[in-house]
Amino acid sequence: MHSDKFAPVVIDAPVADHFIAQAPVNTRTIQELDAAHYLHPFTDSKALASRGSRVMVKGEGIYIWDSEGKRLLDGMSGLWCMNVGYGRKSIADAVYAQMQQLPFYNSFFQTTNVPAVQLAAKLVEISPPQFNHVFFTGSGSEGNDTIVRMVRRYWDLQGYQDRHVIISRHNAYHGSTMAGASLGGMSGMHEQGGMIAGIVHIGQPYYLEGGKGKTPEEFGIEAASWLEQKILEIGADKVAAFIGEPVQGAGGVIIPPSTYWPEIQRICDKYGILLVADEVICGFGRLGYWFGSEYFGIQPDLMTFAKGVTSGYVPLGGVLVGDRVADVLIEKGGEFNHGFTYSGHPVACAAALENIRIIQEEMLVERVRDDIGPYLKQKFEALADHPLVGAAQACGFVAGLNLVQKKAANVHDCVPFDAKLEVGMVCRGHMFSNGMIMRAVGDRMIVAPPLVMTHAEIDEMVALIRVCLDATLTDITQRGWL
Ligand SMILES: *Cc1c(COP(=O)(O)O)cnc(C)c1O
Repeated sequence: MHSDKFAPVVIDAPVADHFIAQAPVNTRTIQELDAAHYLHPFTDSKALASRGSRVMVKGEGIYIWDSEGKRLLDGMSGLWCMNVGYGRKSIADAVYAQMQQLPFYNSFFQTTNVPAVQLAAKLVEISPPQFNHVFFTGSGSEGNDTIVRMVRRYWDLQGYQDRHVIISRHNAYHGSTMAGASLGGMSGMHEQGGMIAGIVHIGQPYYLEGGKGKTPEEFGIEAASWLEQKILEIGADKVAAFIGEPVQGAGGVIIPPSTYWPEIQRICDKYGILLVADEVICGFGRLGYWFGSEYFGIQPDLMTFAKGVTSGYVPLGGVLVGDRVADVLIEKGGEFNHGFTYSGHPVACAAALENIRIIQEEMLVERVRDDIGPYLKQKFEALADHPLVGAAQACGFVAGLNLVQKKAANVHDCVPFDAKLEVGMVCRGHMFSNGMIMRAVGDRMIVAPPLVMTHAEIDEMVALIRVCLDATLTDITQRGWL
């Protein structure tokens, strides 16, 4: 086992001072009320009720605490969003001040508000030069709904009423509204409630899945060529846009080969198709750039954002609209019949402004690019020597590893576990009980930690992951699964 190489991991740190001024939480009462009334997202409610939810009560830095006083290292940044870490009083102060000043006003009636304007200008400042306009929503899903309506309107306004098809990818995640779920490539979501018309999917650029016998660079070009094939199959005059996450998040941290995105850009340019980057995870420093498309060297026409824009302190999303689209919408469009009550919500925008101020002041984007990103890559990818790990990759501040039954020198020759065993869930259980939050996507274990991690905290996290991999190995050996 490898755990002896590392300093012992302190899992249950004292937490008493973190519960100051909080009413004591009766875990059982909360769990019972939770089971009785609260339908959780993406959850089997019956199964959860029999087990009981874990009640989260407190966050500080990279840690969260549950109602039993157990501390967990939050390797998932909440849900890919807690970029500046928990417990930022200055964001709470900014929100409180804005709530007292003007808690809400809409932007529908030829009215605006100061934080929304300031945030729009800030987003334009930090984004690539082609972006000069912002449309605000309340979430990433609403941002992608806005994308669908906006790209179709863009083509309508130029007389191309047939040009409505949007191409996305299998195993993409673009949210959970009707348009978001349809754009996403999750069959489990399509099966429940169907899909909106005019959205089609191509394969994902997942080297471990499809790259056997090829170099990553060759595979990247091949995966991009599926876009051109699909365009030719549908007819370029029918295709409005291509949408993708720079690195697929919820699909399991699928990091495309370096050749993929430039080739996608070339194909979109060749056929005049709008390129949309869903930056909901990759934006705001996650890959060591303000936006993930900058990491891959592409120039999208539209970018969806959410999550890291406020570090999840308050819900906010939106679309950065490039000049190509904005010029048509504004000059020819007349009224755009689209918007949300909370578009440009002043409190959410105030939270975002303070969040971005922190990211800039603490140089978190540069830190991920030059310091903690490379350090995480070095430490995390070394987990590939573990007997259960077939491959481990990191990119910026996201990382994933594959649990395999039998390792091989060539990643494509590793033998996977029978999916029915749900080894990823077994591993996730060991992570939780050892104080580590790591997500399982099938048998791929993923992290996307807060961007404020120190080297020591990265060491602690990777050591903890190794302890939990060891525990998983012992467990599944005892179950006879190896
Ligand atoms: C989370 C996510 C969304 C959806 O955002 P919500 O705020 O949950 O609606 C969209 N796209 C990507 C890439 C995401 O990770």
